Amino acid sequence: MELSFDMTLSEGYRSRSQIARRLTESWIYNNMFCPRCECEHIKQFENNMPVADFYCPDCGNQYELKSKNGKFGKKINDGAYNTMIERITSNNNPDFFLMAYSRSECRVSDVILVPKHFFVPDIIERRKPLASTARRAGWVGCNILLYKIPIQGRISIVSNGSITNKNYVLQKTRIAQSLKIENISARGWLMDTLHCVNAIDAEEFCLRDMYNFEELLWQKHPANNNVKPKIRQQLQFLRDKGVIEFLGNGYYRKVK
Ligand SMILES: [Zn+2]
Repeated sequence: MELSFDMTLSEGYRSRSQIARRLTESWIYNNMFCPRCECEHIKQFENNMPVADFYCPDCGNQYELKSKNGKFGKKINDGAYNTMIERITSNNNPDFFLMAYSRSECRVSDVILVPKHFFVPDIIERRKPLASTARRAGWVGCNILLYKIPIQGRISIVSNGSITNKNYVLQKTRIAQSLKIENISARGWLMDTLHCVNAIDAEEFCLRDMYNFEELLWQKHPANNNVKPKIRQQLQFLRDKGVIEFLGNGYYRKVK
């Protein structure tokens, strides 16, 4: 993996956004393996596909690239809000590569993989409609709220200019994949429980720590009046998937 952009590719392009697109997309197909199956190179779709930019020739998994100059902030601007919500609730979303690069240094600084099933409506923020004076008046865009994606769904491939070991990426992707649930509302519960586990500032924790989130979880899922059993059920699921270990007597440990 080579972090510098191939600047010869920008020749003949004028606009900044076109150059950025050319450089970042080329970087992906020249450097990126498929994190889901180890295939050495992923491929780019011809033309503009509406839903994805890249695919793996071996396993067929699809990827979309979002890139920005500078560091990642808390959120990433994205396209139309309704289209995004439709996509993530219909289960035909691609996985996302989120890339931060330095325009001045012509190189990639961060690449994160977010598997598709970590996209739940909760992480999509609706932006204000464009003003009536705008060319696309009334159009509503969205932001992807990065900080709302549980760490298990933010797999670092390049971090602050250093490349993560490939096997580590593959292993993290396997764990992330095992947390896949087709049902969107069940997925919301899992993501919320993961957030609570991640929010506990210790490697070992107990059931009581989790019950502290009862009120919060109930507010997010008001139709469920049995939040405590639900928490225990989700913890079992996380145990079965290798995210946490049961130590007995209501004690748990996070698996690194
Ligand atoms: Zn693949």
